[in-house]
Amino acid sequence: MLYLSTRGDPARKRFCDILLEGLAPDGGLYLPEHYPNITASLPQLRTIYQQQGYAELAFAILSLYIDDIPASDLRALTHNTYTKAVFGTDAITPVRELEKGLWLEGLSNGPTLAFKDMAMQLLGNLFEYELTRRGAELNILGATSGDTGSAAEYAMCGKQGVRVFMLSPHGRMSPFQQAQMFSLQDANIYNIAIEGVFDDCQDIVKAVSNDLTFKQQYKIGTVNSINWARLLAQVVYYFAGYFQATTTDSEQVSFTVPSGNFGNICAGHVARQMGLPIKQLVVATNENDVLDEFFKTGVYRPRSSANTLETSSPSMDISKASNFERFVFDLLGRDSAELKTLFATTLAEQGYFDLSADPRFIAQEERFGFVSGKSTHPDRLATIRAVWEQHQQEIDTHTADGVKVAREIHKPDAEPMLVLETALPIKFSATIVEALGREPQRPAQFDGIEALPKRVQVLPADVQQVKTLIEKATQVA
Ligand SMILES: *Cc1c(COP(=O)(O)O)cnc(C)c1O
Repeated sequence: MLYLSTRGDPARKRFCDILLEGLAPDGGLYLPEHYPNITASLPQLRTIYQQQGYAELAFAILSLYIDDIPASDLRALTHNTYTKAVFGTDAITPVRELEKGLWLEGLSNGPTLAFKDMAMQLLGNLFEYELTRRGAELNILGATSGDTGSAAEYAMCGKQGVRVFMLSPHGRMSPFQQAQMFSLQDANIYNIAIEGVFDDCQDIVKAVSNDLTFKQQYKIGTVNSINWARLLAQVVYYFAGYFQATTTDSEQVSFTVPSGNFGNICAGHVARQMGLPIKQLVVATNENDVLDEFFKTGVYRPRSSANTLETSSPSMDISKASNFERFVFDLLGRDSAELKTLFATTLAEQGYFDLSADPRFIAQEERFGFVSGKSTHPDRLATIRAVWEQHQQEIDTHTADGVKVAREIHKPDAEPMLVLETALPIKFSATIVEALGREPQRPAQFDGIEALPKRVQVLPADVQQVKTLIEKATQVA
């Protein structure tokens, strides 16, 4: 399998090259040249999941996309990653029925209690494998509004050949998230709190990555959701969810996905393109509703960071959905010239693009299955309360956005609707207290985490100062 850039660079690359690279040199995102079709092997994949488990299913799906790691090594990587010891259950992503036809798929039982562990734990092992094989080093530069950062750091701490420079918006993460990240004392982990919002952090990462000389000299890589390997890891749990919620391969399901950067649901799009019987992919946003606006109107209008609201589902407080370009590429029939004009010219010149009159947009629901909805702070509170009162289950604020939108869209007699549970409530306890009048349950291993010593440096939203920090850190070692 070879990979191309959405923006038309003629180069074709193999998996392990784009693994370490992140953004393509032309500013585009990597995608496989085609999506392998699994329709004929769906029964086999179901048997693999049921009899050999999640790790073997992951191996089967990943090997369709990775041909530059020997099969025995790739199998060892997935089996070392997706264990009961790390993810809490044999199912790895267990589903439970909340009410008739509405299911939750638990993706947040990994070390940092958010779905990003699903991809990041694999990425940590892939990086260590490939860097060791090459005798190389990598400096990971990332931006986080909370969950990415801790998931990356818990996946990379102690790994050979890797340093992590993680930018987060100063003072905007929950106390629990800050404690999780900043309490890590490993020498290869650098926490950098930026005086700005998440998009400022993301802009700095993009600016540094676009400086090709610096990127090469300091071996800069990324773990943000634009990394194809992360997306690929996430494809697997759409299959695992499907196999748990259905009994035959002729059934359809739909997924509702609490969305920010469009990474999680983009993996659902890939699964659907491969032939997994997904009817609808429901994008659930919070008040930062650029994606809901697009799927309702055809207008994509990213916000400025000043217009990005700080909400109680902060991991979705995103104004530009960095993976969205991948879907638009497929929507346009993979016309990279057209794609490039939209993202590099139209957006830059007028601040939005409008596909409302484009027949490909008008036909998208039928072809790609996307619908959308929006949830607000009062919706989250009401949903968290209702789910507790009706089902005695605690859900986190992001999952609540998903459940709220899923309940609006799902009809009781329709195909099963799986809502992806993207975090556990303890990460966002202030809102749980507001909704339920008490603290959420806290897994024992996190007792007292807020009181641990913190390791973090505060910087203004300035590209040069971040570069200087990286230069110094890599010289010392
Ligand atoms: C990252 C995250 C999201 C958004 O996922 P995207 O892939 O950015 O769309 C939703 N919920 C939680 C808890 C997250 O950490």
